[in-house]
Amino acid sequence: EAKDAGRNTVRMYNDAMQAMLNERAGIEAGLRQALTENRFKLYYQPLIDRHRRVSSVEALLRWDMPGHGLVAPAHFLEIAESGSLILQIGQWVLEHACAQAVAWARDPGTQDLVIGINISKRQFRQQDFVQSVKSTVERTGANPARLRLEVTESMVLEDVDTAISKMEALRKLGISFSIDDFGKGFASLAYLKRLPVGQLKIDQSFIHGIESDAGDAVIVRTLIDMSRTLALEVVAEGVESDVQHSFLREQRCDLFQGYLFGKPMTVEEMERMVGTLANAG
Ligand code: C2E
Ligand code: MG
Ligand code: MG
Ligand code: MG
Repeated sequence: EAKDAGRNTVRMYNDAMQAMLNERAGIEAGLRQALTENRFKLYYQPLIDRHRRVSSVEALLRWDMPGHGLVAPAHFLEIAESGSLILQIGQWVLEHACAQAVAWARDPGTQDLVIGINISKRQFRQQDFVQSVKSTVERTGANPARLRLEVTESMVLEDVDTAISKMEALRKLGISFSIDDFGKGFASLAYLKRLPVGQLKIDQSFIHGIESDAGDAVIVRTLIDMSRTLALEVVAEGVESDVQHSFLREQRCDLFQGYLFGKPMTVEEMERMVGTLANAG
């Protein structure tokens, strides 16, 4: 009996493994196809300033999967990250965000928009990361001052000195940096003050807890104060409610990103949003 159960467990485990492996392989094949068939899309989410103006946007990747519609990164980025596909996807994102910056530079309504671009761990770790960003920017003709690269604490902490030299090199071109998901890692003032970053984005898990968790509210307040001390611009990610927004305003947070102001949207929707706000004065 016990033996049978054991055998069943092993069998189920194998089936589950096989299903997972099939799915992994299927997703990898789908991603490779998406690259050649141009099935990735960049959506854009606004970052709102204290006067409710769109100050910048974040480019967010979507996979337009045949028969499934748009797939969010949570369903495929980890799989892409486990192999070299992420490098090709990262390059695709960089090129398309740069092309968008060029297009937006032509219109007075959008020419000041800074585009936040998420960089993956593997991409940042590449020895030729600086050179590949530089040549993409040059090839596309994008204004580096309109590009902000989002990296995470763990990416930087992997090798702080190398990270700093890569960031410094790109900063010399006019590209700025932001620390994404801040607070989730091992926030440490010691390294933070050495990094050539201009912006911190407080992880949305803390923002969501503002109303329900006194600890989260204290953490958010502390992170905002710390950003001010270090003269860094501070963004609250994942702002969903008026209560969160007014708490953040009271704490003098600089920028707000979240569903309260706009979900990730298409280029056309973003242009409409910027235009509407501009008309509203
Ligand atoms: P992230 O960079 O922290 O981006 C913010 C995520 O929070 C986005 O999810 C956005 O849609 C979501 N979000 C924004 N406001 C709210 C809100 O009010 N409530 C909630 N619940 N969520 C909100 P998304 O687009 O699914 O992306 C997830 C993550 O995938 C990103 O987190 C980023 O780490 C990664 N990612 C997205 N695009 C790219 C890309 O082009 N390259 C790389 N390497 N990673 C990307
Ligand atoms: Mg981001
Ligand atoms: Mg984030
Ligand atoms: Mg993230």
